[in-house]
This record gives sequence, C-alpha cells and structure tokens, in this order.
Amino acid sequence: MIIVMEPGSKDEYRQAVISEIEELGYQAHVIIGVERTVVACVGHEDKTPLQHIASMPGVEQVIPILKPFKLASRETKAESSVIDVGGVLIGGQELTVMAGPCSVESEEQVLTIARAVKAAGAKILRGGAFKPRTSPYSFQGMGEDGLKILATARDETGLKVVTEVVSLRELDLCLEYADMLQIGARNCQNYPLLREIGMSQRPVLFKRGMSTTIKEYLQAAEYMLSEGNYSVVLCERGIRTFEDATRFTLDLNAVPVIKSQTHLPLIVDPSHGTGVWRYVTPMAKAGVACGADGLMIEVHPKPKEAASDGPQALKPDTFTELMREVRKVAESVGRTLPGAPEE
Ligand code: PEP
Ligand code: MN
Repeated sequence: MIIVMEPGSKDEYRQAVISEIEELGYQAHVIIGVERTVVACVGHEDKTPLQHIASMPGVEQVIPILKPFKLASRETKAESSVIDVGGVLIGGQELTVMAGPCSVESEEQVLTIARAVKAAGAKILRGGAFKPRTSPYSFQGMGEDGLKILATARDETGLKVVTEVVSLRELDLCLEYADMLQIGARNCQNYPLLREIGMSQRPVLFKRGMSTTIKEYLQAAEYMLSEGNYSVVLCERGIRTFEDATRFTLDLNAVPVIKSQTHLPLIVDPSHGTGVWRYVTPMAKAGVACGADGLMIEVHPKPKEAASDGPQALKPDTFTELMREVRKVAESVGRTLPGAPEE
C-alpha cells in the first residue's frame, strides 16, 4: 500500500511514518513526485497492522495497491519515470536509441559501428561481451577484452555503453566497464541475478522474457526496485508464438499495456523481435508510433560475417535511413529524435 503525505507536510512526519513501517517489519520506499510525496510500503501480504498510519500527522491517506508489482506500478507513482544513464535520459519527450553489434568482435568493428551510429543520432552503444547462445558450441563472446573495447569506444565517441550480464559471475566485471547493465530475455526470471543487479544501483536495460506475460515481467522488474534500484528501463523484444516467418513475434500490444501499468520507461527492440533486417525499420517505426520511449537496434558493417545475429543486423547506412524514417514518425506522435550531434 502507499501512504500519501499531505502537500508540504514536514520531513519529521514522513520520518515518523517510515519508522513506524520499519518497526512493524515492512520496507518503506519514499517516492517524491511532482505533485506529492508517497511512502510505499512493501513486505508481507497482510497490511492490516499498518492501517493506523492513516491517522498519523502529515498523512493525507492510505491507499491499497492492487497490482502485484507495487513499486513499479503507476498506482504508486503516476508520473512517468525518466532514467539517467550517465547524462543520457530515457523516458522523456526525446526518444533514446541504443545501437551497436550483437557481439563485440574486434576494436575495429566496434569503433566503426560506434562512429556511424553516433553520427546518426544514437546515444548509447550496445554490444555483448558475454553472449547467451542457444548452442554451447557457438561464439560465447570476447569476455573482458570485449568490455575493454566497449570502454575504448565510449572514450572516443562519448556514447554510453550497455552490455549484457549473463550471470552473477560476470557482474563485477561488467560494473567496471558499463554505464548500463542489460539483462537478457533468457534471464528475465533469474531472480537472484535481478536482486544483485538491484543492489548494484547501476541503470538496467531489462528485456522481456520470450515466454513471460506482462504481469510476470513487471513482477520481475519489481525485484530490482525492491532492492532500491529504480533505474530500470524495460524492453519489448518479441515473444514466442506459433508464427515462424519471423524469429519472434514483436508484441507491440505490450507497449500501451506496459506504459499504462508502470511508470518505468519502455523501449522496443525490433532486431530480435523480427530476426530479419528487412523488417527492422518498419517495426521500429511501429514501436515509436505506439508509444515506445526508444529503440534498441543491432548494426554491423558486414552482417554476413557477424559472429552472432547477422541476419537481423542493419548496415550503418540502413541504420541512418531508419533514424530518418523514425524521426518523421516521432514528430507525428509528439516526440523528438536527436539527429547528428553538433561537434
Ligand atoms: C541481445 O541483445 O543481443 C540479446 C541476446 O537479446 P535477447 O536477450 O533479447 O535475446
Ligand atoms: Mn543479438
């Protein structure tokens, strides 16, 4: 449930509410909104011991939260959250694009792509140094050498870096190099990993599992919020259906549904969502049209030689064209997409 404080109520009243919640064995999370401050109370299902908080000084009202994802819910925080990744904002009026190769393969490959996607308006460089591959015999990523390459590209271009943490074992290493940690579809319900990443406080790009319902997905995100990490960006990347003309079925229904149920930003990944480079631009436009806060796009200078996900990679020129087309759609729905940065 949430405890809504009266507008302008004293800090000591809020502190008294927090102490009372904690003494009763629940966790208190303070959420400061533009209009009001609320104290969200999470813990055991039974909230009856907390009812008397309604009569404490400075408290306006006590409201039960019906959704199982309490801190992620719009019932708790009505305003959309804007997540700050080293100065790059996600969730505001401006769309944020993350682009780069599926896997880091070499310094030359990453630098070529980083320069091109920056010139087209991307703000965050993606690239996997640890890869969750379907076959144990496929390329598993360059490991720490790959992280170093991403850091070099960040130093040269100023792009922020997002990279996937495949298991708890690599978390500390990824924390050394990445501005944002990616949790992949296959780890969407890896609760111990979600908790640790929650504790790390680093911004997270959290991909939907290919078989998770929206309700399960948002409860999984709640794991990180419950550890105090509110910097979570969601990502619709396609779900498994009977359709096999595309790699996954990009569930764009999820965009308005998720945006109505949570204050967290949501981006769309049409690269994994379709698995076919030709369909990436149309679905990127569709994602923006229905309310996504940004995009994740895989780009490779030589898709045929890519170590992973070549068939869905856009060449740099096609990516630049995607950005031009998405910009028109963005404007028609009241959003903006940055262009080439000013030097
Ligand atoms: C990726 O981003 O390269 C990736 C492995 O994505 P997903 O977890 O969505 O399959
Ligand atoms: Mn990939």
